[in-house]
Amino acid sequence: MRIIRPISLFNTLSRKIEPIIPVTPGEVKIYSCGPTVYNFAHIGNLRTFLFQDLLKRTLLAAGYQVRHCMNVTDVEDKIIRDSQGELPEDATNEARHEAMKALTDKYTVFFLEDLDAMRILPPSVMPKATDHIGPMKDLIQSLMDKGLAYEREGSVYYRIAGFPAYGCLAHLDREGMQSGASVDMDEYEKDQAQDFVLWKAAKPFEPTWDSPWGPGRPGWHIECSAMGMEILGDRVDIHTGGVDLVFPHHENEIAQSEGALGHPWVSTWVHGEFLMVEGEKMSKSLGNFFTLRDLVEKGFDPVTFRYAIQSNHYRKLINFSFEGLKAADHSLKRIRAFRRRMEEVVPGTWEETGESAPRLEKARTDFWAAMGDDLNTPEALAAIFTLISDLNALDDRVALTRKERDAVLEFLDETDSIFSAWPHEAASLDAEIEALIAARKEARDTKNWAESDRLRDQLKSMGIILEDRKDGSVGWRKA
Ligand code: AMP
Ligand code: ZN
Repeated sequence: MRIIRPISLFNTLSRKIEPIIPVTPGEVKIYSCGPTVYNFAHIGNLRTFLFQDLLKRTLLAAGYQVRHCMNVTDVEDKIIRDSQGELPEDATNEARHEAMKALTDKYTVFFLEDLDAMRILPPSVMPKATDHIGPMKDLIQSLMDKGLAYEREGSVYYRIAGFPAYGCLAHLDREGMQSGASVDMDEYEKDQAQDFVLWKAAKPFEPTWDSPWGPGRPGWHIECSAMGMEILGDRVDIHTGGVDLVFPHHENEIAQSEGALGHPWVSTWVHGEFLMVEGEKMSKSLGNFFTLRDLVEKGFDPVTFRYAIQSNHYRKLINFSFEGLKAADHSLKRIRAFRRRMEEVVPGTWEETGESAPRLEKARTDFWAAMGDDLNTPEALAAIFTLISDLNALDDRVALTRKERDAVLEFLDETDSIFSAWPHEAASLDAEIEALIAARKEARDTKNWAESDRLRDQLKSMGIILEDRKDGSVGWRKA
């Protein structure tokens, strides 16, 4: 039988650390607010996606199955601003959609490259907002039918006075609620200042969709409710995002989804803290940001950035610094060197010491106790470093047997399936070789003989002998 370890998380809704009890036993459904693809993500945004990956990988390593949906916001004010500038005033709606798609397709590719470079597991489903306009309109219509939404001059607004639970996530006092923060520029016809827009009436020079309320486009909040309910269903276990999304975005998602469903939608809301720069939130508008590509240009490995972020608790602010990256690099080198030592062939025959097993057992218990307690990564990593010190000291006195080392390596694999930063080096070497062989095949297929020869020589210098097989495939062996 599969063992499932208990995991608790801080639920923004209750302000308490609570155990995750999925609606479908053994399977956790997670919805994450994804990127708005009009430019490169900055590393502050990437911190949020790394926290989501940490959560997902922890649940997987704990024995759960995970169904993860992360949307891509590909229609939004800034996307429209940055994609329509080159078009003539009389451009057709089709041309406007195409220009918007060209911009968002481009930055979606860069975003996926960033995820891959940081070893973030791809979501199970990644819906684009523009592919789900139908369900958004249906949801808006059902809110209107329930008296929770109303139309004004081609726009549709949510009537928050009709949803008594409004404010439950952000713990707002309804009487004293500030109106300023959530007001959109074009929301001048609302019944109440806090009512938020579900459907935005067409403005000149914007791409639009037809709707029962006239041409327009969906508001940002309705996107996530509609896609989340369509893809994950009426009961979602965990919803994630950065802390800036608690209000108004997630508060509005609750109003929309629960207003339509008539029952709770998400059990646990989990929010990751900001990445800061000199005491301020890293953001595009402040101009104090770096992209992952900036870090790579300065010689840092994206996996070092991953570790620098994940070695901090996800609910604590992090001040970004290059010194922090260097410290992360140093810690990683220690874990990797230990791993190499454990992988080395043990000379001679040794008796089992019987001393490593209890230390390993304690490390595993401490590691899981920490991860299960709201993803306490600093403590989980401390358990690994304690094991490293203990076993290095032990190994200086009495060499560990192969069996003892294998047990340690198994633990390193288990923890690496979450942190993805200290893989089995032979395995990553194999992946590198396979990639070079694939590149050589492509060079040969396109009759680029010079490149094909160069790659064969490169593989040869790595001690790899290629074997061209009769069926056209290529095998390899170490010389
Ligand atoms: P966006 O692409 O602007 O929709 O943002 C994507 C995600 O990045 C959201 O979940 C935000 O909460 C998050 N985010 C934005 N700025 C930061 C920051 N400085 N640190 C951590 N997360 C951030
Ligand atoms: Zn969202």
